[in-house]
Formats: sequence, structure tokens, C-alpha cells
Amino acid sequence: MEILKQRILEEATVVSAGVLKLDSLLNHGVDPGLTMELGKEFARRFEGRDITKVVTIESSGIPVAFATALVLNVPLVFARRKKTLLNEPDAYCERVPSFTKGIVTDLLVSRHLLKAEDRVLFIDDIIANGDAARGLLKILEQAGSEVAGIGIVLEKSFQAGGRTLRELGYQVESLVKIASLEDNAITFED
Ligand code: 5GP
Repeated sequence: MEILKQRILEEATVVSAGVLKLDSLLNHGVDPGLTMELGKEFARRFEGRDITKVVTIESSGIPVAFATALVLNVPLVFARRKKTLLNEPDAYCERVPSFTKGIVTDLLVSRHLLKAEDRVLFIDDIIANGDAARGLLKILEQAGSEVAGIGIVLEKSFQAGGRTLRELGYQVESLVKIASLEDNAITFED
């Protein structure tokens, strides 16, 4: 998606080996107009897939998942990320490592928000190793919901997350793929 590549080149910085800072668009601030364009693009790519729900992970996935859900006219559910030792019997729960925080957190979704008859589109901001996505997919599996597809704003394709999910048979649509962040330079995959 050209407009997104342009904005990344203008606004992103490489903060450390393999990590991109994109606070103005994805991880701290939100451009509502651009976010709606991202939502429309995901809705277009997953057209005709009979999606009944969009699911994401708090917090950075929420704006673009909201935009996608609005265009598809379906509800949105976001998994909570908690550092908890409490047992939550009413929630599906998966423990995942956090790529940027260097800790493990629990992803939680209340059981009543996911149904076995749901066809879910999973949307997220960035995929790196794919741990967060795999955790969310395990929750969808526990709920018996079908995964209609996975939409990622920014795939760091030098890390294995997106590739691994495609190998498992999921339709993974990334709006932008970054092939390298070496030498502080952002190189896109064609
Ligand atoms: P994964 O579980 O795929 O390794 O990492 C996914 C999550 O970590 C994303 O939801 C994203 O918020 C965060 N993340 C991974 N790589 C980056 C990065 O380069 N920059 C930022 N800001 N967040 C990242």
C-alpha cells in the first residue's frame, strides 16, 4: 500500500536491531483518515469471506481493527493483555511473550464474546515472530470460531511470524512488508 509506505518513510525510526518506532501512526498516535483507508483495504482484501466478527489485541491493533469492523459492519472484540496471576474462569486465556516489552503477558477474551458460529477476521498492527498472533489463534480455536483470515498492517518479513502462519494455511494479508531494518534503513519488500 503506497500511501502507507510513504508515511512509514516519513515518520518511522529504527530504534534498535529489528525494531521500528511508529508512534505517530500505530503505537501511540492515530491518524483517523489513514486508519479508515487501512480498514477499507482490509475489508476489500477479505471481501466475500462472510466475516461475522473482527478480533484484535489491545492496544495498538484497536484503531485499525475498529476501522475494518466499521467497513464490514460487524462487531469488534479486542483481547485484553494482562499481567495477572488470577484465575479468570469466564475468559479464554493464553500466555504469550511480548516482543517489545520483554515480558510474558496473558491474552484474555471473555467467553461470551466469541461463538462457535463466528467467522473471525484477526487484525493486528505489526507481526514479528508471531507469538501474539499464535496466542490469539489458540483462543479462537478454544472458542471453536473459524478464522476467515489475518490482516496485518506491517509485517517484518525478516522475522518468521507471517511466513509461519501462511505455512499453516491461513490467508495472511499484510499492507506493507519490511524486508530489512539493517543499518537504520527501512527496506520494503516489493
Ligand atoms: P510478535 O508476537 O509477532 O513477535 O510481535 C507482535 C507484537 O509486538 C505487535 O503487536 C507489536 O505491537 C509488537 N511489535 C513487534 N515488533 C515491533 C516493532 O518493530 N515495533 C513496534 N513498535 N512494535 C512491535
